[in-house]
Amino acid sequence: MTIPLSCEFFPPKSDEGAAKLRAITTELTTALRPEYFSVTFGAGGSTQERSFATVTAIQLESGVPAAPHLSCIGSTRAGIAAILDQYQALGIKRIVALRGDLPSGMRDPGDFRYASELVAFIREHSGDGFHIEVAAYPEFHPQSLNAAADLQHFKEKVDAGANGAITQYFYSIEAYSRFVDDCEKRQITIPIVPGIMPISNYTQLARFSDACGADLPRWLRKRLEAFHDDTESLRAFGHDVVVDLTAELVRVGAPSLHFYTMNQAAPIIALCQDAGVLPTAPQTPPA
Ligand code: FAD
Repeated sequence: MTIPLSCEFFPPKSDEGAAKLRAITTELTTALRPEYFSVTFGAGGSTQERSFATVTAIQLESGVPAAPHLSCIGSTRAGIAAILDQYQALGIKRIVALRGDLPSGMRDPGDFRYASELVAFIREHSGDGFHIEVAAYPEFHPQSLNAAADLQHFKEKVDAGANGAITQYFYSIEAYSRFVDDCEKRQITIPIVPGIMPISNYTQLARFSDACGADLPRWLRKRLEAFHDDTESLRAFGHDVVVDLTAELVRVGAPSLHFYTMNQAAPIIALCQDAGVLPTAPQTPPA
């Protein structure tokens, strides 16, 4: 099964972390030849400098294009315009455009309320200079009024100029398939790429899932809980679950796969190998 792949990182906090990330990108590039590496961006600009440094290192050194995330909440139009210009000068061609969540203690939402407004602004400011990815929620965004409203707001991002979408992670293939069907019924034709989260730490995953509205099905919670401190067995079980999910996503026709790497290479490479996933879109390996 050949399919394009992409991998997501968060910006490391130290020089040591940056060196480790260089090694990770080299490993992933050699093993999986990803289409791009994306880098998260703290809402309200909280990781702006570290995100920019990470994007620059990947873009110039890894041999794989970097795709910066850009969250707009708490930002001004002038601030976002300056970031877009910096990325354009760096040769960036793809941006993941997000609203983000206001950091605690920050009250002023700034010039943007929703990601659709950011997408419209990127088109207004940079024309077709960027391929724009947006976020999609097969199990619906936790702040949405209801499923229909969330889908309508997703469509608004597409109508504003998004070229593709990456989903929040999920462990129910039905949630993804139904979401894709619902989008087709609304004439949303952009690729909807599943975001895949490996399972390695139950407490962390449960906390993340509660915060972002991703559903951890009861059977999965119960199985993961039962491992208690047996990290090795939990990882082996989690690996099997996500291998099955990945293979099933390819089978149902996912256009591409996006991996939330948590800045680790080995679990993602093992997942792809065991799911029988071979990357397309070969890249030149790093010099
Ligand atoms: P939006 O699309 O604006 O939606 C947010 C909520 O508002 C939804 O409930 C939607 O239904 C509702 N809504 C939208 N438009 C309207 C409207 N006109 N009227 C009323 N309601 C409306 N966060 C970061 O801070 N940095 C990152 O790097 C980052 N990367 C991410 C990558 C992916 C692939 C995903 C899935 C999420 C990422 N996030 C990131 C998290 C994201 O910022 C949060 O989930 C945030 O709460 C919503 O962002 P959004 O872009 O989906 O917002």
